[in-house]
Amino acid sequence: MRTATSASSSVTPNEVNSEPTCYCGLQSPILMAKTKKNAGRRFHGCAKFDSPSCCNFFMWVDPKIPNHVRDMIVDLLERNQTLSESSQSRGDGVEVSSLLAEMKSQKAKNRRLKEELAQVKKGKMLYQSAFILCICYIAVLVIYNVKVGRKFLSLP
Ligand SMILES: [Zn+2]
Repeated sequence: MRTATSASSSVTPNEVNSEPTCYCGLQSPILMAKTKKNAGRRFHGCAKFDSPSCCNFFMWVDPKIPNHVRDMIVDLLERNQTLSESSQSRGDGVEVSSLLAEMKSQKAKNRRLKEELAQVKKGKMLYQSAFILCICYIAVLVIYNVKVGRKFLSLP
Protein backbone atom coordinates (compact mmCIF):
# COMPACT_ATOMS: atom_id res chain seq x y z
CA MET A 1 0.00 0.00 0.00
CA ARG A 2 1.54 3.31 -1.01
CA THR A 3 0.96 6.58 0.75
CA ALA A 4 1.44 9.98 -0.78
CA THR A 5 3.29 11.55 2.16
CA SER A 6 6.25 12.57 0.06
CA ALA A 7 4.15 14.51 -2.40
CA SER A 8 4.69 17.87 -0.69
CA SER A 9 8.34 17.46 0.27
CA SER A 10 9.82 19.94 -2.18
CA VAL A 11 10.22 23.30 -0.46
CA THR A 12 11.26 26.43 -2.24
CA PRO A 13 14.47 27.71 -0.68
CA ASN A 14 14.61 31.10 0.95
CA GLU A 15 17.09 32.36 -1.63
CA VAL A 16 15.97 33.63 -4.99
CA ASN A 17 16.12 30.71 -7.40
CA SER A 18 17.17 32.49 -10.55
CA GLU A 19 20.48 34.29 -10.01
CA PRO A 20 19.92 37.75 -11.42
CA THR A 21 22.54 39.48 -13.52
CA CYS A 22 23.49 43.13 -13.10
CA TYR A 23 23.60 45.65 -15.94
CA CYS A 24 27.21 44.63 -16.60
CA GLY A 25 25.90 41.19 -17.58
CA LEU A 26 27.61 39.53 -14.62
CA GLN A 27 26.01 37.26 -12.02
CA SER A 28 24.90 39.51 -9.21
CA PRO A 29 26.19 38.50 -5.76
CA ILE A 30 24.08 38.66 -2.61
CA LEU A 31 25.36 41.44 -0.37
CA MET A 32 24.29 42.62 3.06
CA ALA A 33 23.22 46.17 3.77
CA LYS A 34 25.18 47.90 6.51
CA THR A 35 23.30 51.17 6.55
CA LYS A 36 21.34 51.95 9.69
CA LYS A 37 18.11 52.06 7.75
CA ASN A 38 18.43 48.54 6.35
CA ALA A 39 21.00 46.84 8.59
CA GLY A 40 21.29 43.11 7.90
CA ARG A 41 18.93 43.16 4.92
CA ARG A 42 20.33 41.25 1.95
CA PHE A 43 20.26 42.47 -1.61
CA HIS A 44 21.60 41.68 -5.06
CA GLY A 45 24.17 44.22 -6.18
CA CYS A 46 26.52 44.80 -9.05
CA ALA A 47 29.31 42.21 -9.28
CA LYS A 48 31.76 45.12 -9.44
CA PHE A 49 30.25 46.90 -6.41
CA ASP A 50 33.65 48.00 -5.10
CA SER A 51 35.00 49.31 -8.38
CA PRO A 52 34.32 52.68 -10.08
CA SER A 53 32.70 50.93 -13.08
CA CYS A 54 29.86 49.68 -10.86
CA CYS A 55 26.53 49.78 -12.70
CA ASN A 56 24.57 50.45 -9.48
CA PHE A 57 22.29 47.46 -10.03
CA PHE A 58 20.18 46.87 -6.94
CA MET A 59 17.50 44.38 -5.93
CA TRP A 60 16.34 43.40 -2.43
CA VAL A 61 16.50 39.71 -1.47
CA ASP A 62 14.96 40.02 1.99
CA PRO A 63 11.64 41.70 2.66
CA LYS A 64 11.68 44.95 4.60
CA ILE A 65 12.87 44.36 8.15
CA PRO A 66 10.47 45.60 10.88
CA ASN A 67 11.80 48.74 12.60
CA HIS A 68 12.25 47.20 16.06
CA VAL A 69 14.25 44.28 14.59
CA ARG A 70 16.33 46.69 12.56
CA ASP A 71 17.02 48.81 15.67
CA MET A 72 18.10 45.70 17.53
CA ILE A 73 20.49 44.69 14.73
CA VAL A 74 21.97 48.21 14.64
CA ASP A 75 22.39 48.12 18.41
CA LEU A 76 24.11 44.70 18.28
CA LEU A 77 26.40 45.81 15.46
CA GLU A 78 27.41 48.89 17.44
CA ARG A 79 28.05 46.87 20.58
CA ASN A 80 30.09 44.37 18.59
CA GLN A 81 32.15 47.22 17.18
CA THR A 82 32.73 48.70 20.64
CA LEU A 83 33.75 45.32 22.03
CA SER A 84 36.23 44.59 19.27
CA GLU A 85 37.69 48.09 19.62
CA SER A 86 38.08 47.79 23.39
CA SER A 87 39.67 44.34 23.12
CA GLN A 88 42.11 45.70 20.54
CA SER A 89 43.06 48.67 22.72
CA ARG A 90 43.63 46.39 25.71
CA GLY A 91 45.99 44.34 23.60
CA ASP A 92 44.48 41.01 24.59
CA GLY A 93 46.31 39.26 21.80
CA VAL A 94 49.69 40.46 22.98
CA GLU A 95 48.90 39.46 26.55
CA VAL A 96 47.95 35.93 25.52
CA SER A 97 51.10 35.46 23.45
CA SER A 98 53.31 36.74 26.28
CA LEU A 99 51.55 34.37 28.67
CA LEU A 100 52.18 31.50 26.28
CA ALA A 101 55.87 32.42 26.07
CA GLU A 102 56.06 32.55 29.86
CA MET A 103 54.39 29.15 30.10
CA LYS A 104 56.97 27.71 27.70
CA SER A 105 59.89 29.06 29.71
CA GLN A 106 58.32 27.76 32.93
CA LYS A 107 57.99 24.32 31.34
CA ALA A 108 61.66 24.38 30.34
CA LYS A 109 62.59 25.40 33.90
CA ASN A 110 60.45 22.58 35.26
CA ARG A 111 62.24 20.08 33.01
CA ARG A 112 65.64 21.36 34.18
CA LEU A 113 64.58 21.06 37.82
CA LYS A 114 63.39 17.49 37.23
CA GLU A 115 66.76 16.59 35.69
CA GLU A 116 68.56 18.19 38.64
CA LEU A 117 66.38 16.27 41.08
CA ALA A 118 67.19 13.00 39.30
CA GLN A 119 70.90 13.78 39.59
CA VAL A 120 70.56 14.63 43.28
CA LYS A 121 68.75 11.33 43.85
CA LYS A 122 71.53 9.47 42.05
CA GLY A 123 74.13 11.19 44.24
CA LYS A 124 72.15 10.36 47.37
CA MET A 125 72.03 6.69 46.37
CA LEU A 126 75.79 6.75 45.82
CA TYR A 127 76.34 8.16 49.31
CA GLN A 128 73.99 5.58 50.79
CA SER A 129 75.76 2.67 49.12
CA ALA A 130 79.14 4.08 50.18
CA PHE A 131 77.85 4.35 53.75
CA ILE A 132 76.59 0.74 53.67
CA LEU A 133 79.96 -0.40 52.32
CA CYS A 134 81.68 1.46 55.17
CA ILE A 135 79.46 -0.22 57.73
CA CYS A 136 80.18 -3.62 56.19
CA TYR A 137 83.89 -2.88 56.21
CA ILE A 138 83.77 -1.88 59.88
CA ALA A 139 81.74 -4.98 60.69
CA VAL A 140 84.25 -7.20 58.92
CA LEU A 141 87.09 -5.47 60.77
CA VAL A 142 85.35 -5.93 64.12
CA ILE A 143 84.63 -9.60 63.45
CA TYR A 144 88.18 -10.12 62.23
CA ASN A 145 89.56 -8.35 65.32
CA VAL A 146 87.41 -10.44 67.60
CA LYS A 147 88.56 -13.61 65.84
CA VAL A 148 92.17 -12.47 65.96
CA GLY A 149 91.70 -11.52 69.60
CA ARG A 150 90.25 -14.92 70.42
CA LYS A 151 93.06 -16.56 68.55
CA PHE A 152 95.47 -14.34 70.37
CA LEU A 153 93.79 -15.05 73.66
CA SER A 154 93.65 -18.78 73.04
CA LEU A 155 97.36 -18.87 72.54
CA PRO A 156 99.19 -20.47 75.40
ZN1 LIG B 1 27.18 45.62 -12.67
